[in-house]
Amino acid sequence: MKGEVEEDMDIINLMEEQVRITLEEHLEQKTGICTCPQCISDMMVYALNRLPARYVSKQRGETFSRIGMTDDQGRTSVIAAVVSAIKVVSQAPNH
Ligand SMILES: [Zn+2]
Repeated sequence: MKGEVEEDMDIINLMEEQVRITLEEHLEQKTGICTCPQCISDMMVYALNRLPARYVSKQRGETFSRIGMTDDQGRTSVIAAVVSAIKVVSQAPNH
């Protein structure tokens, strides 16, 4: 449909990247947790719904992601959201 916003916009959510990295780090340290695509998606969704989005345009994103999210508060809330996401999803897997 014309006039609609295209899905493939030149924007990225830095939070998504941060959650993905943090989730991978935490899952590596844990055993006995299902890491099938369904569970990973559920964990991502759970965590992302509890965190503020950080959208940037793709060009700026390249610079931003190299810098990373350095503020401690942001990092702490990402970790907290990821930890509870793993807990909730692994207790009631949706696969
Ligand atoms: Zn699973």
